[in-house]
Order: sequence, then structure tokens, then C-alpha cells
Amino acid sequence: MPAEFPDFRLGSVLATSFTGTLSERYGNPVERIPTPQRLVDWLAVNGLAVASCTSAQLELARELRESIHAAATAAAMQEALPASPVRVINDRSAQGRAAAVLTPDGSRRWQLSSPSSVEDALGVIAADAISIIAGERDGRLALCASPTCRAAFFDTSQSRTRKWCDMNTCGNRQKKARFIAKQRTNPEPAK
Ligand SMILES: [Zn+2]
Repeated sequence: MPAEFPDFRLGSVLATSFTGTLSERYGNPVERIPTPQRLVDWLAVNGLAVASCTSAQLELARELRESIHAAATAAAMQEALPASPVRVINDRSAQGRAAAVLTPDGSRRWQLSSPSSVEDALGVIAADAISIIAGERDGRLALCASPTCRAAFFDTSQSRTRKWCDMNTCGNRQKKARFIAKQRTNPEPAK
């Protein structure tokens, strides 16, 4: 993996892992799929291997990503869903031709049409977003408490009190910031 590309954040929920390929939307945004090849890599890691990706397909993917982000944010805030992002999500979902197939060991895998296309993969992601935003799955849509992030994430914790989109980045940073602030107010070491 070339060092100049930011790492992927891996999550258990496909749609919000996808929106997490852009992070720090309200700070210094980090684009984790800067090239078509990086989208191919991301899809492969998430069980949606495709043969190739063009710049136009990458644009389509980013449009879907920001549409999911907008619709999921509205849903998390219990606001009306924005019309144009919903249209994009529905279009991508309708144009995908992936099929769910059962593997011999009893798990679900996505079979993309042949030759497997980015459009099929985006259809799977769009359908995943729809199931979350529609409230069909066990969990709660919430917004990351980090003011520079505000990513919509899907909280499946028992208590539904998760605050950060990602414990290793946003959660950790916040913990460190609190620690530093505490050090400033109490410069003397505790006795
Ligand atoms: Zn976050």
C-alpha cells in the first residue's frame, strides 16, 4: 500500500464505513479514496471486489458518499430527509445488479454482475444506507461528538451511548485534548 495514501477506517457497518472514507469534514478533510485505484482497494477490503474503476465512477462514488452523509445526518438529527441526496441514494440502489448469495459455510456474500462494476458495488452500499436510515436495523444513527468530524455513525452498543464515530481516532483525540486541558488548569502534579 503506497504510504502517501491515508489508511482506511474499517467499521462493521458498510454504509457508514463508506462515508468514513472522508473524515474531518469540518476540520481539515482527509480524503481516503483520492484515486480510482483506492476506491477499488476499499471495495475489495469490504467484500465488493471490482475489476476496475474510472474517474467518472469515482465521482459517482463520492456523490453517493456525500448523499449518504447528508441523509444519515438528517436522520440522526430527526430532521426531514433532504430530497436531492435521497434521489442519489435511490438511483444508485436501483442501478446496482448485485445479488446476495449464501456461501457453503453459511455466510452472506455479495455477487456482483460480471464483469463486476463499481455501479453494482455502489448499489450494495446504497441499499445498506437505506436499511440504516429507514431504521430497519438494530442500532441508532448518531453524530460524532468531535466538532471537526460530526460523522454520522451507526451505534450498535447495548446502551446506545457511543459518542465517537471511531474510538481510535476521534475518541482518542478527544481524550488527549481533555487530558491536556486538565494539565493546563492543574499545572502542579497531583500529590
Ligand atoms: Zn468522528
